Amino acid sequence: MAGITGRFLRINLSTGEIRSESIDEQVAMDFIGGRGFGISYLYRELAPDIDPLSEHNKLLLLNGVLGGTAAQSVSRWMVYTKSPLTGALARSCAGADFGAWLKFAGYDFIIVEGKAERPVYVHLTRDNCQIHDAGDLWGKNTKETQEWLSQRYGINTRAACIGPAAEKLVRYAAIVTGRRTAGRCGTGTVMGSKNLKAIAINAERNIQLHDPVAFQQLVKEQIDAYKANKGYLHHEEYGTTTTQDITNDLGIFPVQNYRYGRINDYEKIAGEEYKRKFRVGQFGCYSCMATCGMAHSVTSGPYAGAHSEGPEYESIWAFTGPIESTNIEATIAADQLCDDLGLDTISTGNCIGFAFELYEKGILNKGDTDGLELTYGNHSAMIALIKKIASREGIGDILAEGSKRAAATIGKGAEAYAMHVKGLEMPAYEPRGAKSQGFNYVTSNIGASHNYGYARQEVFGAVIPREVDRFAEEENADIVVYNQDRTAFKEVGVVCEFTGGWGWLPEIFGKMLAAATGVEQFADIDYLERVGERIVNLERVFNVREGFNREQDTLPRRMLSEPLLTRRAPGDGQMVKNLDKFLDRYYQIRGWTKEGVPSSEKLNELGLGYVLNDIKR
Ligand code: SF4
Repeated sequence: MAGITGRFLRINLSTGEIRSESIDEQVAMDFIGGRGFGISYLYRELAPDIDPLSEHNKLLLLNGVLGGTAAQSVSRWMVYTKSPLTGALARSCAGADFGAWLKFAGYDFIIVEGKAERPVYVHLTRDNCQIHDAGDLWGKNTKETQEWLSQRYGINTRAACIGPAAEKLVRYAAIVTGRRTAGRCGTGTVMGSKNLKAIAINAERNIQLHDPVAFQQLVKEQIDAYKANKGYLHHEEYGTTTTQDITNDLGIFPVQNYRYGRINDYEKIAGEEYKRKFRVGQFGCYSCMATCGMAHSVTSGPYAGAHSEGPEYESIWAFTGPIESTNIEATIAADQLCDDLGLDTISTGNCIGFAFELYEKGILNKGDTDGLELTYGNHSAMIALIKKIASREGIGDILAEGSKRAAATIGKGAEAYAMHVKGLEMPAYEPRGAKSQGFNYVTSNIGASHNYGYARQEVFGAVIPREVDRFAEEENADIVVYNQDRTAFKEVGVVCEFTGGWGWLPEIFGKMLAAATGVEQFADIDYLERVGERIVNLERVFNVREGFNREQDTLPRRMLSEPLLTRRAPGDGQMVKNLDKFLDRYYQIRGWTKEGVPSSEKLNELGLGYVLNDIKR
């Protein structure tokens, strides 16, 4: 099959063995690439019940079928592993150039297994792959690490690396490349547990497509469609730095640990403020004309000198809403710290908001917080906590475990204030005011991820596949299924989620897949939808094999029992009332049992009958 390299690289850090292997042809037909390869190979490679931080866990870094081509917004890459934060599946997606470079090196993915005895890094070219001692790199932050590798191997080097937080095994440490991160689920933590500091690649563009002429024509159509789309033009100008303008207006911008849906003095963090006062540059991922990464600098005040190639929407929220601060300078400084230290901004901000509420409730006091006053608005305490989390110092050592484990350690009823699903901290959309988004958190196989099946209908008013009432519950189960399956098939690409806001066209995508690979079926949207459904089902089976079922498909108690306080927005008073009815309907549409387990009929229908014995066990 053209388009994909047909090969993956297996690197065993325990033995030092490195091997290039062929991708199974049936897997390529059934799962196409990217995310499909991720779950397919992780499922078959990983034994159930292993400790995610042991040498038995494996780390998969994958590009997509279209990665490295001239197609727009498709060179993102993914990480698959078992999460040390949740014990469930980990799926995380990142941008920049690393995925394209991996393709140029001749591989669709890398499987890292085992554990090195001491810190190492991997250097990969088209002809060679070597494991090197990383004694000089260990302890360096992600920026320093990438600079060190560029000095050693030249400016054409692209690296995915970890920072000090992953070295300390903070459970939500990220993998960083350029200034983009595979942030969610603790993928960096798994890399740190293997003593793997970085994977650096030097390679030149070299991709064979089945029909390059047809492919180029489709790229032209794609670019024309982008230029004619208002959503695209807005994204090109602002990235996601204006999403808070929308979510705050809708009353779904979570504030004070998900008690309110609007922030006071909102105008101070409006998107236009970022652009007017702090923006200093713009950058993007490989082959994406949107260049939606916005760089910001602080030139005066206590945070003078802070510079971040961000924050994007989730990080804008993470360092304002949870502690109810409207200090943009502190947000930029916090974002820079997290990127340098290698922390997931969502889990970090969420855990800090959790600590602030515990302090307010008297469950934590100054003696517990190393003298920090965790009072709303205190952004300098937030900055101090980020450093403590990354170094596992004092209260930071507890918060580094994630909100679920931290609550169990703290006790005194702290569980009620831990805002997570399956152990993954909730992001910047309030479930009570955007319920399909909330139910997506509930049923996502990685925990509370906004991007597992983003409810664009509720946030941006998209009417695909139909109009949606954002306060409806079980009535929208079909929308949650639709969003999750569509996301799954886009991520065989790997298509950027943001393209959904620009009227992303599945028909062009399908034709691109067919032109790239020569497989005509990939142009058929029904075929792609079936692949998306297959991916989500196998991801569910992965979790079932790990012991997950209906019981874990839930939301924090607050969402089910406390009305949302939106400060006079339309969602005021909303709660999630019919979780059980939603789950019944969602499972029924998916063809799963009442316990949330894919039925044998559904698995056979999807060609996944080979997992049935695992489920029975
Ligand atoms: S839209 Fe932004 S995040 Fe997405 S691929 Fe383009 S530059 Fe990267």
